[in-house]
Parts: sequence; structure tokens; C-alpha cells
Amino acid sequence: MEVDVASNLRSIQQTLPEGVELVAISKYHIADHVMKAYDAGQRIFGESREQELVEKAEKMPKDIEWHFIGHLQRNKVKYIAPFIHLIHSMDSPRLLAEINKQAEKCNRTIKVLLQLHIADEETKYGMTLDECRAMLEEGTWRDYHNIQIVGIMMMASNVDDRAQIKGEFQLASDFFNEVKNKYFANEPSFCERSWGMSHDYDIAVKTGSNMVRVGTAIFGAREY
Ligand SMILES: *Cc1c(COP(=O)(O)O)cnc(C)c1O
Repeated sequence: MEVDVASNLRSIQQTLPEGVELVAISKYHIADHVMKAYDAGQRIFGESREQELVEKAEKMPKDIEWHFIGHLQRNKVKYIAPFIHLIHSMDSPRLLAEINKQAEKCNRTIKVLLQLHIADEETKYGMTLDECRAMLEEGTWRDYHNIQIVGIMMMASNVDDRAQIKGEFQLASDFFNEVKNKYFANEPSFCERSWGMSHDYDIAVKTGSNMVRVGTAIFGAREY
């Protein structure tokens, strides 16, 4: 069955409270399909693989704001550094150093989110809360002039138990406040809370998310 991307987008937008940004996750969908969302007015797209992102960014209109959401290897940062708007998946001090270095080469400032591992699953990436605290406390990030840390990102466990999902989002929300108060109290730019996907963005916006990453509910199922 043909997926009605424009209508999917519209019904999601209608349920999102004011101030919540919708990142359309276009990974594994071909550019022609993704363009249906662009034509319906969507301008923020997220991809999880560097090569696929670079190819789409070349092919698609230049006013798109591209976000990177997948696990990012340090040797791949240079390919996306010239144009990436926000990296959701910054998960180690070494990756942060590399992003800063590549951003400097491009004469840019790249915005990043601290990716947290809160989910109850080995396979998920991200820093534990303590690893993240240690990185912020250590302080080297303050010397990087070509990155800007603007918030946090996480994925909930892939479970049906909505109470569990809500609890994990709540933990992220509390951690956001902790970090905000301790390190970014005077920086309004530290404001992004990226959590919520197709099956749980409704819970996410009730627990303080202001950036949901939705793929399947817009574009239909992915073919791997
Ligand atoms: C694929 C992906 C999404 C979107 O997932 P859907 O269930 O298709 O909405 C969101 N966030 C991350 C990190 C992803 O990898």
C-alpha cells in the first residue's frame, strides 16, 4: 500500500505540543520517497549512516537541516562536518574532540547532544549517566571552540511496557535538569531534549521532550 507521507506528517504535527520539533527520520528510505515529506513542508531530517546522509544531502534541496542520529565513528566525522546541523549521538570525549577538530577545519561550530545510555539493553549506544557526569566534570569540553553542547538525547528500551518507557524518559528529564543547573545555567542554547520515536513520542512529550525523532510513522516500514 502507498504510504501517504503528507497525511502522516500532518497528523503527527497536530498531536505535538507547541515548541516540540519534529525530526523526520529518513534512514533507509530513498530520496524520492523522502522528498514527499519535503514537499509537504518538512525541513528537518535525520539519518543514521554517514554515507547515506552524504548522498541524500547532495541530492536533496539545500535548505534542509540535517541531523545525525546513528553511532558515529571518529573517522567518519570529516564527511559530515561541512554541513551537519546537529549530531544527536555524541557519546565519548574522543568523539567530541574529533568533532571539534573537523568543525574547526570547516570554520564552523557544530551543535551536539550528549547521548545517554538509559535503556535496559546492551545493544544501545551512549554514555551512562556517570560517564556523562565524569566528562562534564573533567572539563576539557570547555576548551573546544568549534562545538556547542545544546542538550541531551536518549532512546528508551524497546518494550511494550509504557510505564517503563515513561520512567526512562523521566530519568532523562531529571538528568537534563541536573546538567543544565550545574554546567549550562547561563546558556539558553542548552535546551534540547531529544527523546521519543514512532511508538513512544506521545509519552516523550509528556516527559519534557522538545525534539522527537520519528521515522516509521511518517515514511512507513524500512526495508533493510
Ligand atoms: C531509527 C531511529 C529513530 C526512528 O525510529 P522509528 O521507530 O522509525 O520512529 C529514532 N531515533 C533513532 C536513534 C533511530 O535510530
